[in-house]
Amino acid sequence: MRKKIVAGNWKMNKNAEETEDLINELIEKLPDDIEAEIIIAPTFVNLASAVDHVEFTNITIAAQNMHNAENGAFTGEISADMLQSIGVETVILGHSERRAYFHETDSQLAFKVDTAIKHNMKVIFCFGEELKDRQDKQHFNVVENQLRDGLFHINNEAWENIILAYEPVWAIGTGETATPDQAQEMHEFIRETVRTRFGTIADDVSILYGGSVKPDNAKEIFGKPDVDGGLIGGAALKADDFVAIVNGLK
Ligand code: PEP
Repeated sequence: MRKKIVAGNWKMNKNAEETEDLINELIEKLPDDIEAEIIIAPTFVNLASAVDHVEFTNITIAAQNMHNAENGAFTGEISADMLQSIGVETVILGHSERRAYFHETDSQLAFKVDTAIKHNMKVIFCFGEELKDRQDKQHFNVVENQLRDGLFHINNEAWENIILAYEPVWAIGTGETATPDQAQEMHEFIRETVRTRFGTIADDVSILYGGSVKPDNAKEIFGKPDVDGGLIGGAALKADDFVAIVNGLK
């Protein structure tokens, strides 16, 4: 079933102590009268303590990335099994920073998705066009290709574990947000694209918007019919801002 979700991507921020402090503040301040899944993604080294801290709360911990191989000579990488062995069952894949700085391609991402599915892990699959694509009016094509190349090979059952995160690259960390109408237009397109291949599964998949979501624009964006929540970067690093964004679902 389609769920409301707000996920915080902490990127390469917060050391061990700061991670504990922010999680404790979130536990204290997050509303308990919202039917939504709250996911936070600290750095790899703080995942185990984060998992311990959120026990008995409705917060889920996600990793920001993982390798597609089961194990082996991949210095510096982390496997699905390693994540699951510390209680992490959700992973963000395909974030635009992974695509841009670490050259992750759609076909590599398809392998990572396969590994996550094999391990029955949840995937927050990120994709979105660059500014130039939008200026050239190629944004729908780019998004369709990213979806097709990264996800269209999976089977119907696997969609149970897929959360989509549309993140226009030009809006990430820039303070520039897609207007609520731009977000709705693209989310509707994404849902219809999923429908062409997977039928009514499209109605059940949660599609998050990401890109400079802040307390003052969250409610309007989340109010759009095909926007099921958000993937939050910068504003996830301050408890009050993140909580205000979650409250935007009300
Ligand atoms: C992100 O990195 O996924 C993101 C949406 O960042 P920001 O909210 O800072 O734009």
